[in-house]
Amino acid sequence: MRSFLLFGMLMALLLSGVLEATPSLAQEGGSPGYGRPVTDPFVLLKPLSPAWEPLPFSSVRPTGWLKVQIQENLAGFTGHLDSLCPVLVVKDDIYGKDRLTRKVHKKEVGALTDNDAALVQYLWWNSETQSNWWDGFLRSAILVGDSDALAKAEAYVRRILRTQDSDGYLGIYDRDLRYHFRDENGELWSKTTLLRGLLAWYEYSRDPSVLQAVEKATLNVMKGYPPDTSRPFYSIHPNVGGLSHGLVFTDVLETLYRLTGKREYQEYIVFLYRNFSTEVLNEDAQYAKLMDSTYQLKGHGVHTYEHIRALAAAAYASGNPMLDNALDQFLVKVSREINPSGGPAGDEWIGGRPADPTLTGYEYCSLQELLHSYTDLLAKTGHKEWGDKTERLFFNAAQGAVDAQHRCIAYLKTDNSYYMTGPQNGDSTQHHQTRYSYSPVHQDAAVCCVPNAGRIAPYYVASMWMKNGDALAATLLGPSTVRTVYKGDSVCISEHTEYPYGGRVDFVVDKAPGGSFSLCIRMPEWVTRPVISVNGRPDTIEDRFAFMVVRRVWTKGDIVRLDLDPKMEVTHDRKGQPYFTYGPLVLAHPIPSTFTVTKNYPLAGFHDYAYRPDSLLRYVYKGGAYGVFPWAKETAINGGSAQRFPEFQALMTDPVSGRDEQVSLVPMGKTILRQVTF
Ligand SMILES: [Zn+2]
Repeated sequence: MRSFLLFGMLMALLLSGVLEATPSLAQEGGSPGYGRPVTDPFVLLKPLSPAWEPLPFSSVRPTGWLKVQIQENLAGFTGHLDSLCPVLVVKDDIYGKDRLTRKVHKKEVGALTDNDAALVQYLWWNSETQSNWWDGFLRSAILVGDSDALAKAEAYVRRILRTQDSDGYLGIYDRDLRYHFRDENGELWSKTTLLRGLLAWYEYSRDPSVLQAVEKATLNVMKGYPPDTSRPFYSIHPNVGGLSHGLVFTDVLETLYRLTGKREYQEYIVFLYRNFSTEVLNEDAQYAKLMDSTYQLKGHGVHTYEHIRALAAAAYASGNPMLDNALDQFLVKVSREINPSGGPAGDEWIGGRPADPTLTGYEYCSLQELLHSYTDLLAKTGHKEWGDKTERLFFNAAQGAVDAQHRCIAYLKTDNSYYMTGPQNGDSTQHHQTRYSYSPVHQDAAVCCVPNAGRIAPYYVASMWMKNGDALAATLLGPSTVRTVYKGDSVCISEHTEYPYGGRVDFVVDKAPGGSFSLCIRMPEWVTRPVISVNGRPDTIEDRFAFMVVRRVWTKGDIVRLDLDPKMEVTHDRKGQPYFTYGPLVLAHPIPSTFTVTKNYPLAGFHDYAYRPDSLLRYVYKGGAYGVFPWAKETAINGGSAQRFPEFQALMTDPVSGRDEQVSLVPMGKTILRQVTF
């Protein structure tokens, strides 16, 4: 991370000189000042400012295909999970009258087990299912302005606020249990999932009662688990679930700090990470494990990938270079786990295995959590690589684990996907595996991935634009409109593009502030010679750290046009296997398949599906010619607006006949069964 901190600092200084405080060089060198080296990774120094400030949720609205996708999610699993799975989502009033007490030993959580002892551990599950689902639902409703969904979301927010006790407690435990655990529990995790959604609603509605409720609930946590004298991550058993998920209560604390500027929220972040690191837990993100260069990631993938941003939060809140170094080490370990699609190994466990496009599946929950961590790193460090990783994951792994025609998602998916019948790639020994299939619920495994599939597009959209003291930046590309305030004046810019399916991006200034300001545009890593013009004339553009900067006094109607000119290219995965890319898109050969309906739901139009290949020919690429046929393909998603995308071909070898043939390729996000590496 050190290089990124330095980058953020230089960026800040160069852009304008009016940016917020940046890390001191003394800290950069590992000293807190006064000439003494830092020896305690958890000691508080001077907090670091992020290179880019996230905009309040709802400042960025999707347009084009992104808007269509979120509308389709609302028409599908995101909009109907409560009807598809009422027993978990509606009937268990887990934050209200059905709070957990010592007397509750069993409840329906939607998992495959007959073991009551195991079930007790998961009694918090429905809180995650409900709150992550509502988080995706209300963000989707806000982003596309769906009035029915907005009314439903508002009623939900009101209902939840009514469950808050007079002392501020918002959560799933009755008085006999709360803040007193010696084992697995969901105290912090049930609040994290709930409060993230409430904070998004506050940023949209500006209803002060919502922010007050979240602050009150957070102060209740800080009283229930007092900093420095309590052990919120203590467990007599090292294998935990909800307990260690709860580390990302740091998400709530960081947003509260951004909204209120209260330092105690930052200090509590460092306390949580310190206690998490010092307890005996089988978790990858503990400080000592990260600093052990021989330690390989092995934990539950979704925990590991979400804990990246908890550590980043602690590193920035403390300004401690030792935590910053640990984050560096963590990210090196994570880099070994990334598949060509951007999907991180974890099916459900990472298990010390490096990524393999056929063997290491990824859970949809991990896609959302890693994307959220990447966008957080992009904001904090300002380094473009986190934008590239976000786009790779969202456009490929995330789109490629959805069966859009059938309003379903895959719980687990591999890049090379030859069967989607339950077990991994048709492995006949995995008798109980159901996750490699498509469902709008996945209740036979756990209802975790479907809620997260409704969160990922809204989280991508929210991070497409960021700002700092002098600049507004298009940090992730795609069709969108941003409305924000610059020096007290409103600004609105629309981004018109088919990106990533096309390489032209037009930024149109709909409302300009007085005076000059910089429009920064992140240049993707694959761009070699971008062509940029302002109002039709080539402009002298400064290129600073891969952000193009256009600084001028803007007027309404100004257009910045960018031609990124993506090219079809061959690249190689960690094992040297070739695969094809086109800009941020990873390409796949779609394998012809036949689906069967494996489960029906009472709600019309919703089913579970299994896919088998009609024939399974795995092509070999030996360096033959390849090419692009722009806009050869045009397809409609669920009857929505037609979305076109280019089609590609490459000369490959049929290993059975030995003959070479032209093999068609499409963006892997548009496939079900597919071959990605050749
Ligand atoms: Zn999941």
